[in-house]
Amino acid sequence: MPEKNAPQKLPSKDFSRSLLRWYEEAARDLPWRRTSDPYAIWASEIMLQQTQVKTVIPYFLRWLAAFPNISSLAGAPLDDVLKMWEGLGYYSRARNMHKAAKEIMDKLDGRMPRTYKGLLELPGIGAYTAGAVCSIAYNQDVPLVDANVKRVFARILDMEKPVEQTAAAREIRGAAESLIPSGKAGLFNQALMELGALVCTPKNPDCAGCPVSLHCLALKEQTVDSRPVLPPKKKTQALEVSAGVCVRDGKILIQKRLPKGLMAGLWEFPGGKLNSGESPEQALVREFAEELEIDIQCGEKITVIQHAYTRFRVRLHVFWCSMKEPAQTPALHAAEEIRWVLPKELDGLAFPSADRRLIQMLMKDGVPV
Ligand code: SF4
Repeated sequence: MPEKNAPQKLPSKDFSRSLLRWYEEAARDLPWRRTSDPYAIWASEIMLQQTQVKTVIPYFLRWLAAFPNISSLAGAPLDDVLKMWEGLGYYSRARNMHKAAKEIMDKLDGRMPRTYKGLLELPGIGAYTAGAVCSIAYNQDVPLVDANVKRVFARILDMEKPVEQTAAAREIRGAAESLIPSGKAGLFNQALMELGALVCTPKNPDCAGCPVSLHCLALKEQTVDSRPVLPPKKKTQALEVSAGVCVRDGKILIQKRLPKGLMAGLWEFPGGKLNSGESPEQALVREFAEELEIDIQCGEKITVIQHAYTRFRVRLHVFWCSMKEPAQTPALHAAEEIRWVLPKELDGLAFPSADRRLIQMLMKDGVPV
């Protein structure tokens, strides 16, 4: 019986058979496919959100070596967890995993929930991750809809609605659920994602080599290039930011970002956004005064680092600086903690990618004492 949200034009069960046959041959050997440990599946699926497979592999292996199970993750300091995640971006994923691991230890006797509903109650676990754990680790007949699966079904069903609309999402989930061969949800879901990753790619899909091309309405209607219908892209925003490497007695001043918001809990060099009409030097002096209550002397420019995160394109102007009055004690208005650290200590702390690039430069060129 088709599920109630399944679309009318659903492909036949032959779709699932052809897909599974293809997957048997084509599946890539990925580290998270060699396990059915729900914790490892959970970690891999969280890492794979918004991140490419080849980037995730070394992080996944390091993560499991450092935190091999839920109790080791729950018992680790958040700083260590963020350090392990450094460079992967979207740090709330790591914070939520840490929080969820603690909840599992405190409230669930250290055992991961075995139901879709139970998983959804944990921080950071949404329909996608719960579907992945239920189907891949527990082999329950639960659908899994990620960006790859959305694209595949938008083409198979030749969907005219934008895939991000609730009605379209419901239809895709219904289709995915209806086509699961009983008892094979784990394989089927992974096969769908693999098809989206390897064959039904965003650009230039390999329709000639596609195992389910006979079922593809977009191919039949010649609309493949316009499916899926996507929402208009959000405009990127350019930001000019200043940061200061403030040195005193050979130590550098760093601050830890507040526990909420973007890149929460990561360390950084103090600074902030330029106001309109301000020079990078003026912005730096103002930011140190406002956020740390210290007067600085802005020195030579070290570098300008260009980087992008989420929808921001940032130019980070970095300067040497020093306190006008070395005995001043920085205040905590926009940070959780401040520290004076030796350059060699910077390696053991988690920084955003742009700051990490700066640290590599400082390590190479040296820090004035
Ligand atoms: S036939 Fe082409 S568009 Fe259709 S599912 Fe296969 S690869 Fe995607």
